[in-house]
Amino acid sequence: ADVFQQRPTRIRVDLDALAHNLKTLRAHAGVPVMAVVKANAYGHGLVPVGRHLQAVGVEQLGVAFLEEGVALRQAGVTVPILVMGGIFGPQASELIQHDLMITVSSLDKLRLVEAAAEALGRRAQVHLKIDTGMERIGVHARNAGPFIEAAVASAWCDIRGIYSHLARADEPDSPATAQQLERFLDACAHFERLGAPMPQRHLANSGGLLWFPRTHLDLVRPGIALYGVMPDPALPSPLPLRPALSLRSQVVYFKVVPKGHPVSYGGTWTPDVDTRVITVPIGYGDGWPRALSSRGEVLVRGHRRPIVGRICMDQFMADIGPDGSAWNEDEVILIGEQDGHAIRCEDVAAAAGTIPYEILVNLNLRIPREYT
Ligand code: PLP
Repeated sequence: ADVFQQRPTRIRVDLDALAHNLKTLRAHAGVPVMAVVKANAYGHGLVPVGRHLQAVGVEQLGVAFLEEGVALRQAGVTVPILVMGGIFGPQASELIQHDLMITVSSLDKLRLVEAAAEALGRRAQVHLKIDTGMERIGVHARNAGPFIEAAVASAWCDIRGIYSHLARADEPDSPATAQQLERFLDACAHFERLGAPMPQRHLANSGGLLWFPRTHLDLVRPGIALYGVMPDPALPSPLPLRPALSLRSQVVYFKVVPKGHPVSYGGTWTPDVDTRVITVPIGYGDGWPRALSSRGEVLVRGHRRPIVGRICMDQFMADIGPDGSAWNEDEVILIGEQDGHAIRCEDVAAAAGTIPYEILVNLNLRIPREYT
């Protein structure tokens, strides 16, 4: 419970929707799921989401950084967790001590992890990272032979997985994904050549999972789809996923703005009739994008109402029209549903000229989260 009455702006996370999406995605892929919960679980809240996914049977979790994995472990999450980002030297021993699986992305990193494991007297659990087309972390697939051979020979590393990341899986018609898959499978073949057991092979992010079945392999790594959101606003979902996050606020002020009176900083929007304008207590200081200035919409009393003027740090205004009705404390939906209308995260992203990921992860800690 709030210790005092905070402003009425809330993120609501529907945990049942997350469980539904997990089941739906797993059934579609037919393989176990590593749920990606980096960046505060895409804005949904790292610890509550991690705990809930564990409770509903997720096989593994993926995070970007050591500190995200440690936060999950400290919250009592015990499922295998992979730290997918590049690691810094001193992190190796902490990763091992917190029982986090380590992304080994070069021969140098392998040596570093081995040294940390030997010093601790405790084996490291690792996933080998192959670069098949991102030019980000990972050993180029064409150079994977010596890398995999060294990892297989390692006395201090258990190879739990081998993986790569898709650069264009949100383009269902792109040939790049098939090419990445081919390079990845060529790299994996070194295990066979060495007579070593094949670890879990994983490649599919949400796009791969949804649109490229051949990328499913032994494990899938969805992030955005797990939250019921599509990677690209223009792509319809091929599966019945449910958005887990809604963003709600309330009207805190109502006024009539006379014709010709500009609204908000810079006076960038001016009504050409006397109109009714509401103020909503959330702004770019919460991560509500300033790019929505005179671009986005909100739902009030079951109507779509345009955001007008510049978004401020803590507030913005919407025009409900000369005849619109709204009262203080009326619900305002920024992302979510009201009376059969919906504003999706994808719609907000399209209006702001960005991707749904950025909308979600930018919703910052000033906004309280509620879990239902
Ligand atoms: N795997 C890796 C290595 C990632 O970096 C990410 C996120 O960017 C994902 C999986 C999940 O991607 P998505 O949210 O598109 O499903």
